[in-house]
Amino acid sequence: MSRRGMMRAVLADLSIPRYVLTAATRGRVPVGLLSLRDNLPAPTLPDAPGWVLLRTELAGICGSDLAVAHAKSSPVLSAFYSARRQILGHEIVAVVQEIGPGVTAVEAGDRVVVDPVLSCVHRGFAPCRTCRDGFPYVCERFDQPGAARCQSPTQGFDAALGGGWGELIAAHETQLHRVGAMPARRAVLAEPASIGLHAALRWPRRGDRAVVIGPGTIGLLTTAALRRLHPDLDITVVGPGAFSQEMAVRAGATRTMDPGPQVVEALAGLHGGRVIRPRISRIPILEQGVDVVLDCVGLPGTIDLGLHLLRPTGMLVLVGGAGRQRVDWSLVWNRQLTVQGTVNSGPEPALDGRTTMSRVVEWLADPSYPVDDLVTHVFPLDRWRAALSAAAAGPRARAIKVTLRSPRE
Ligand SMILES: [Zn+2]
Repeated sequence: MSRRGMMRAVLADLSIPRYVLTAATRGRVPVGLLSLRDNLPAPTLPDAPGWVLLRTELAGICGSDLAVAHAKSSPVLSAFYSARRQILGHEIVAVVQEIGPGVTAVEAGDRVVVDPVLSCVHRGFAPCRTCRDGFPYVCERFDQPGAARCQSPTQGFDAALGGGWGELIAAHETQLHRVGAMPARRAVLAEPASIGLHAALRWPRRGDRAVVIGPGTIGLLTTAALRRLHPDLDITVVGPGAFSQEMAVRAGATRTMDPGPQVVEALAGLHGGRVIRPRISRIPILEQGVDVVLDCVGLPGTIDLGLHLLRPTGMLVLVGGAGRQRVDWSLVWNRQLTVQGTVNSGPEPALDGRTTMSRVVEWLADPSYPVDDLVTHVFPLDRWRAALSAAAAGPRARAIKVTLRSPRE
């Protein structure tokens, strides 16, 4: 297939007004919002050095993709996701098909995974202050397409460069990490595992006790990252269901617990903390609580539980995409807690400036990194509807990471 060829992809058409979709579908995948197209134009390479054309092998379905598919993306973040036509898929394993001018890092035929973040350097801008300071994963020009012609912070939310739910993708060589013959079921975890490691590194270790809430893909990979970074850390994973709890223990959890206020008593019993019962509120407070909570769900119940579990000066890391939530934040000021957001991944001072994904690719190449069971489903691209249903059903349908395989040429 040539650079001017056609390709097959699942296209999201966001020009359909959101209220129409939400009203018509009540949470199911809106008919008409996503459709499989056989004759979309293949992405063209931006007019700048360093771009390559990739042929997709396998791509993951992320919670953020489901939010687009269900017309439930964050209203405030729509400022940064303005493309009307999107090809989703930012967890990507692919083969380099064609290299453009100035490419030195990869060759045609290389198998790669993709860091989807597109910062100033990819958009052809002089670096913004945030990029200059070493945080390109929260670049200040995510709303400006620039030379990359991408109307989103990362690959996979715009059709111009393509995404993993399509056969061909344009990407910059600096986004790519070679994976050799690594099984696609492991390589496809490079992006979510980077999210997990980046989240785990937001906590400068101070103490011995951690809680991870939400054993979905990100929670499990955050647990696996914490375990790799801190072999002696006590990690309690809170989340429902025997299936995901088993997965959490395999990923490195010390123990698992069902969600709910009883977690406070259980941890007090284990660690010797005191339980303080407010006269009015339902959830008790754990005195001598845990040092860090990584909330990979981001709903009112999980944020509330996390705040009640933390010791004074502890840290709540918000890994899940928290939106508008009704939460009692009193304990944040009353116990001088830190609420730390985390998104994407990139250069890490804790890794001597290396990127999160370069470290994760090393982990994935190590058979003892326990992630083999995380990809529970592989669907061909033309069964995208069934794949989205499985992903939306989640752990109660024994689904963790659901993936789409592109047809071989
Ligand atoms: Zn920037």
